[in-house]
Order: sequence, then C-alpha cells, then structure tokens
Amino acid sequence: MSTFRIAPAKKEAPAARGADARAPQRGPDPVEEELYRLIAEAIVLKQLRPGARLNEAALASQFDVSRARVRRVFQRLAELDFVEFKLNHGALIRRPRPDEARAVFATRRLLEAEAVRETAKRATPKDFARLRKFVEAEDRAFRAKDSTVAMLSSQFHILLGELCGNSVLARILSQLVHRSVLIQSLYHRQNQPTPCLVHEHVEVVTLMEHKKISEAIKAMQHHLDHLEETLDYESLGQIDERLARSLG
Ligand SMILES: [Zn+2]
Ligand SMILES: [Zn+2]
Repeated sequence: MSTFRIAPAKKEAPAARGADARAPQRGPDPVEEELYRLIAEAIVLKQLRPGARLNEAALASQFDVSRARVRRVFQRLAELDFVEFKLNHGALIRRPRPDEARAVFATRRLLEAEAVRETAKRATPKDFARLRKFVEAEDRAFRAKDSTVAMLSSQFHILLGELCGNSVLARILSQLVHRSVLIQSLYHRQNQPTPCLVHEHVEVVTLMEHKKISEAIKAMQHHLDHLEETLDYESLGQIDERLARSLG
C-alpha cells in the first residue's frame, strides 16, 4: 500500500458544518483541524486502510505547515487509537482489535444512557430545536447518498454529550464516538448497505422531548446494539490479516 496523500481540500466556509456544534475555547488550529478531518474521513471512506503509512514530510509540504504541526495531528489520532507509531515506519493507520472494539461500544452504552438521561432533563426548547435540525440534515445527507453520512451521524452522539451538561462525559464520549467511526469503517459487514438509523435518532429525540426518560434510554441502547450488529468482527479480521501481510 502506498503512502497516503491527500490534496488540500477546497476551502470550505467554516460555517458549513454547523459552526455552533463546536465552539472550542482553546481554539484549535484550523489547518490542524482540516488535516485531522481529512484523515479521519479518508479512514471512513476506506481510502486509508489499516497499515497505510502517513507521510509526515509529504503532508507538511502539501498543507504548507510545519512537520511539528502534522505530528500534533498524528498525536491526536494516536490518542484516539486511529494511528500508531512504529519504529522505522513512522505513523501508521491502526486497526483496533475486536475486543477493543467491543469495549468501545460497551462503554458507549453506559455513557450514552447517562447522556440521554441528563439531556432529557435539562435540554431547553432551543436545544431540542437544534437536535431536530441536526437529524433533518442527517436525513437529507442519507437521501442524497452522501458518503460522509456515517461521519455526520456520529456527530449526533457527540452533540448529546455536549448537551447533557457533563463536560467530562462529553469529552470521553467524543473520543469514543471518533473511535467508533473508525471501528465501523473497518468492521462493517461487507455487501451490507449502511443502515439508515436516522429514524432511531429521531425516536430518541422525540422520547427525550416528551420526558419519557427510561424509554429514551432504551431506544438509545437499542440503537447502539443495532449499530454494533452491523459489524462483523470475525471475517473482516481475516481480510485485514492478508492486507497486513501484503504490506510486509
Ligand atoms: Zn447514531
Ligand atoms: Zn434498530
């Protein structure tokens, strides 16, 4: 497998992806954000497979940034287990093991039950309007067969984390959701279309809005079970072994 290269994206207006969905206080570097997003998307779109090498020098020159900044992006991806560093190989896309993948979903079930419970209690009509707007955008993306719909859908879960009022939970959940996107792209059953689970997001929102808290939690847990059922930890493991061998 050759070294990953990505062309710098056409300039996208910062508001295009819901500017209010992330208003970081620390203000992450926009170029680093873009690079992070492009690499994560390339993983999801299977342009980047496990074992693929990320070329620090090439990315630095393509994006016209220092290698130190590219390294920071790799570091961030490594913290999410997207990337590992190997001696003499540099940064490589990593494949999480099935037991790690299961643990990610198990932890999400716990955290998202809490996120749903707290969001249902404290969300304002404005928050619910925002959730509604979000799921409508998701639905449009699905209908338009937008290839980044999985990425967009994952943002729904991050948004719930942000709305639940527990910033520690929000941070951990955001990391787990990012890890899940990678896991889904690696372990998704072949020959099976990505299920449209937007209606399950809508159901969770509706139940929360009607303060049916335990039903909302159940709906979320069903949704996470459903997501995990679309994964096949066994057979895709073999494909990746072959791929790994071919990469030497
Ligand atoms: Zn979802
Ligand atoms: Zn379902």
